Amino acid sequence: MSASTAPLDRTSLPDAAGHFGRYGGVYVPETLMTALQELEQAYLRAREDPAFREELRHHLKEFAGRPTELCLASRLTEHVGGAKIYLKREDLLHTGAHKINNALAQALLAKRMGKKRIIAETGAGQHGVATAAACAKFGLECVVYMGAHDMERQALNVFRMRLMGAEVRGVEAGQKTLKEAINEAMRDWVTNVRSTHYILGTAYGSHPYPMMVRDFHRVIGQEAREQMLAREGRLPDELVACVGGGSNAIGLFFDFLEEPGIRMFGVEAGGHGIQRGEHAARFAGGRLGVLQGCKTFILQDADGQIELTHSVSAGLDYAAVGPEHAFYRDRGRIEFAYATDDEVLETFQLCSRLEGIIPALESTHALVHGIKRARELAPDKIVLINLSGRGDKDVQQVQKLLTAQNGS
Ligand SMILES: *Cc1c(COP(=O)(O)O)cnc(C)c1O
Repeated sequence: MSASTAPLDRTSLPDAAGHFGRYGGVYVPETLMTALQELEQAYLRAREDPAFREELRHHLKEFAGRPTELCLASRLTEHVGGAKIYLKREDLLHTGAHKINNALAQALLAKRMGKKRIIAETGAGQHGVATAAACAKFGLECVVYMGAHDMERQALNVFRMRLMGAEVRGVEAGQKTLKEAINEAMRDWVTNVRSTHYILGTAYGSHPYPMMVRDFHRVIGQEAREQMLAREGRLPDELVACVGGGSNAIGLFFDFLEEPGIRMFGVEAGGHGIQRGEHAARFAGGRLGVLQGCKTFILQDADGQIELTHSVSAGLDYAAVGPEHAFYRDRGRIEFAYATDDEVLETFQLCSRLEGIIPALESTHALVHGIKRARELAPDKIVLINLSGRGDKDVQQVQKLLTAQNGS
């Protein structure tokens, strides 16, 4: 079944045009081509520059809180009664999730490029908060585009961004959520491209973003590898991460891709189940198309209209998936599953109760599937789950959902 034994050179991807096999590429208006090429050149130079790497390493440590711990979930392991479950604790990072890895790195890159104005898109607000923090840290002007509907739902994150000096601009178009916010950010970028860098928040969009954002999150897998070797004297048997755009997952997986013995699972949002408009599991209901600069798997109808999506977790609620995931899924190297809202709500409580860790709803999708996998495996096996973020942002929403569920 799995082609995971096939030889693979992960570092050869993407090709010069930004393709991961038939996925990825550059689908933008002509006015942005130069900006993307300039960004790619700047990034490739920075990547090879020891001074940039050292500055980034310094800020990831001092400001963001790296390295994050690798933690044995001992009571969860005992409860499940199968493989040992380890958690990579990205939830311990400053601003509460892995997103700061990328926001910090891109802000540094913008500084290096002489761009003093930053724009970003945000859905739930997590990427906006991380970007606002990085911009405050480096004294950069920051404008965050956010759907008006999301601004209402995530009022606290709007306030956080404003506290840190960001201007949050509400987008009234369409569904007033993430997709429209991205359109508006692109429009701003076209207009202000000389002064402005666009910090995109996931391993998505036009080349070089999927490659660059992946690289900025590779530190997750690099640390996990070392920590697992130090702790257990061997690598894990399986890796599990949730997949919105795919940045925390590819960040964990990348440095294990050439280990043929290790299975990897990306977990998408199953929402209310796999019916049109009720989920965001692109690999369960999507097909090939182009959206917001990128060719990949997309939830769309027969006419190519983007379908509505639903998930209990805003961070996984997007109609398209990062192109590198589509490529590795075709090869059988990364396997995909989904978790439903109900499963997520149950596991959110289980992890909180047994481990004293309240996980982000996004990360809980990975926990749901990781627990299923651990249950299938013998106690001498190891499952490593990426805990991409903490659940503080989600507790009010979960409280409401549980109250409704209990019919009170
Ligand atoms: C944004 C977010 C995600 C989803 O984004 P990816 O790019 O797929 O990683 C997952 N977990 C948390 C905590 C997030 O904030």
